[in-house]
Amino acid sequence: MKIGSVTEVKRQEYRVGMTPGCAGAYTRAGHHVLIQAGAGLGAGFTDQEYTRAGAHICDTPEEIYASCEMIVKVKEPMPSEVPLLRDGQILFTYLHLAAEETLTSALLEQGVSGVAYETVEPRPGQLPLLRPMSEIAGRLSVQEGARFLERPQGGRGVLLGGIPGVEKGKIAILGGGVVGTNAAKIALGLGAQVSILDVHMERLGYLDDIFQGRLTTLSSNRSHLEMVLGESDLVIGAVLVTGARAPRLITRSDLQHMKRGAVIVDVAIDQGGCVETARATTHDDPVYEVDGVLHYCVANMPGAVSRTSTQALTAVTLPYGLEIASLGLKEAARRSRGIALGVNTYRHHLTCPGVAQAFDLPH
Ligand code: NAD
Repeated sequence: MKIGSVTEVKRQEYRVGMTPGCAGAYTRAGHHVLIQAGAGLGAGFTDQEYTRAGAHICDTPEEIYASCEMIVKVKEPMPSEVPLLRDGQILFTYLHLAAEETLTSALLEQGVSGVAYETVEPRPGQLPLLRPMSEIAGRLSVQEGARFLERPQGGRGVLLGGIPGVEKGKIAILGGGVVGTNAAKIALGLGAQVSILDVHMERLGYLDDIFQGRLTTLSSNRSHLEMVLGESDLVIGAVLVTGARAPRLITRSDLQHMKRGAVIVDVAIDQGGCVETARATTHDDPVYEVDGVLHYCVANMPGAVSRTSTQALTAVTLPYGLEIASLGLKEAARRSRGIALGVNTYRHHLTCPGVAQAFDLPH
């Protein structure tokens, strides 16, 4: 199969759908790989590395869309890219179609088979192509929080780990899932004092076991929340209720009880945020202040560490890409539950119930 990757055109997207390592893997499996010149530069991969891996470099995205049977990307196609997609072409990328009615209609009209990373679900509840981005966002949340706690950045001037003889910084993590657990790892590594809140007691039991009592686990209720908000330097919002808007745990009046110069990193902003005063921000202008509390609400946090994110993402997408390339989409979907659930559009048919439901369409 001819497989191609192009330079991402979405603003501030520096990741790329295929590393030189992936290009080598496809080539060794007998496929042909086309890469747009400079596509890997945002993640630190040069054209020469792709060439050495056996890929062919093309000057324009048009050449790639025109000749490849499968396009491996990171983000959903932008309006400038949509007309380049062809009937029968496979598009393997994050699609988030339930929020994109125009794009959904375009893929259906153009007969594109869209396989969405975010709905590849090999076992119930397992989303392996989303997980690494949550791991990255969780780890990054503490790094960004630490940065904005610095006084010149507007924070209260607290070093999270303290030093001997000085109090440690306090971190509250709301939600002990993938983001929360990864935030906790980094927070403990920095030497901060960490509390983690969740509604599931089994999850708290698990966290207590793996962190061997080095953090405080608290059931997520109003009194525990008020307690941690009053004493924390950094609050990380990492809650998720599957398929729903993030629950609003922190209200505007709660900010009055927080320390001046404290920082909230609302990782859940991509699901609407768990803070009443949260609104999505960008890497260009990541923070704003409300009632003396800094809010960091970047909706695509992993984009800041584009090399790590590209390596993490492509490591999990490659096995699926290889399966699709080697078997063809129809047979790969027949053999693999993960791929079958990843298929959102197949030629001119809508195949994802969630997307169909979002737009009241048949599937
Ligand atoms: P997850 O399902 O692994 O964990 C969510 C946790 O929240 C669960 O343990 C759940 O029990 C807990 N929870 C639910 N309601 C709660 C409440 N009221 N109080 C306390 N805990 C509660 O999800 P995840 O992968 O950790 O993702 C968390 C959020 O981060 C999601 O909204 C996800 O979309 C988002 N995210 C954002 C970025 C970004 O760049 N901003 C990147 C990756 C993930």
